[in-house]
Amino acid sequence: MKLSQNFVKTAKQVGHEEVAKNAQLLIRGGFLDKGMAGIYSYLPMGIRVISKIKNIVNDEMLNLGSQEILMSSIQNKEIWEKTDRWSDENVDIWFKSKLKNGADIGLAWSHEEPITQMVKSHISSYKDLPVYVHQFQNKMRNEIRAKSGIMRCREFIMKDMYSYSEDENQHMEFYNKVIDVYNKIYSKLGIGDITYVTSASGGVFTDKFSHEFQTICDAGEDNIYVHNDGKIALNEEIFDDETLLKMGFKKEEFTKQKTAEVGNIFTFGVGKCEELDLFFIDQNSNKKGVYLGSYGIGISRLMGVIVEIFSDEKGIVWPENIAPYKYVIIPIGNKGISKSEEIYDSMLKKGIEVVLDDRKESPGFKLKDADLIGYPYQIVVSDKTMENSENVVELIKRSSGEKLLLDWTTIN
Ligand code: ATP
Ligand code: MG
Repeated sequence: MKLSQNFVKTAKQVGHEEVAKNAQLLIRGGFLDKGMAGIYSYLPMGIRVISKIKNIVNDEMLNLGSQEILMSSIQNKEIWEKTDRWSDENVDIWFKSKLKNGADIGLAWSHEEPITQMVKSHISSYKDLPVYVHQFQNKMRNEIRAKSGIMRCREFIMKDMYSYSEDENQHMEFYNKVIDVYNKIYSKLGIGDITYVTSASGGVFTDKFSHEFQTICDAGEDNIYVHNDGKIALNEEIFDDETLLKMGFKKEEFTKQKTAEVGNIFTFGVGKCEELDLFFIDQNSNKKGVYLGSYGIGISRLMGVIVEIFSDEKGIVWPENIAPYKYVIIPIGNKGISKSEEIYDSMLKKGIEVVLDDRKESPGFKLKDADLIGYPYQIVVSDKTMENSENVVELIKRSSGEKLLLDWTTIN
């Protein structure tokens, strides 16, 4: 892309009401637009980052054997009544509305019930199991607090996956595989070493167990206790004498850390499917309940967490694999401008993700913008860089500020 064609402008400042660093930087950098508290729109640069995070997650879900689907955001009351999750007393974040005929509908805050209803038409025998499906879907939640930028929104993007299994073994085998795959995903996103799996109570989802994936982050809303060995961590809810005694640990061996929950997985046993009348016939012709697992990753929250972690006083410092573009070319002077066009065309032909900053702004302004937006590399093309050879440019690495003169034809 040529930046002269980007309708989005960067900004020096954002309104006072935006307190979260992630939203401040993402709005200033032109990734997001704020509609109201907890409601954001994704602009061209923002949607590129979201797509990259989604692709990393999607590849891993497909590898697990899950199939991608897309459910509606509009849900019917009756399904949720069957599991007692329609009432505001039980689920306090529903957005509800009515059809013209008076029928109640709810805006999707989760999808266990509708997905289970959907798969019912396709599961009747043990031969039909297991079933794994996932989607990238907007969730709507009437959250009380929405102060953490895109880390807590009233509409946000989630990857949710569901597993339907024959028995506990089949269920647990998949559940445990998901834990490994989630760890792999967080590593790919650059936050593997600061993300911990913790076990927790299931909240509104289930009385059975669940696991959370918590990333150390000052802007997070949760706390975990990390053991001094750095390998295990305990959720705040279960950090008590009883748990510690059971595990053979002492309180002093743990350090409290602020975290953001970037993923959450649950097991529902057979209860949920039974409530929704999903059964199957096993090999011995017995009618049995189906085991349900539910596996979420906060796609848009992850973008916020990554910005919180990978940023400095100048702006965002995207990890290479999720940056909106890997390179920005910044021309200085007339010679620089014509050479930049040539470099840009050639890099595009090679399939390199690059933008050309051809706006009518000063080089200083463009360099500042590049730092704010956080492209991993800036390519400066000027009379000075070309002094000795036509093909020499200056490559600036955003993360370290390191500068290097090199032949642009070797960049890939
Ligand atoms: P939290 O504990 O943060 O309120 P949750 O336990 O209600 O989240 P789940 O329903 O398990 O969340 O959703 C799966 C993932 O979606 C969470 O791990 C989180 O990363 C993300 N998520 C949940 N609520 C929000 C929100 N309001 N805005 C952005 N992302 C969210
Ligand atoms: Mg949670």
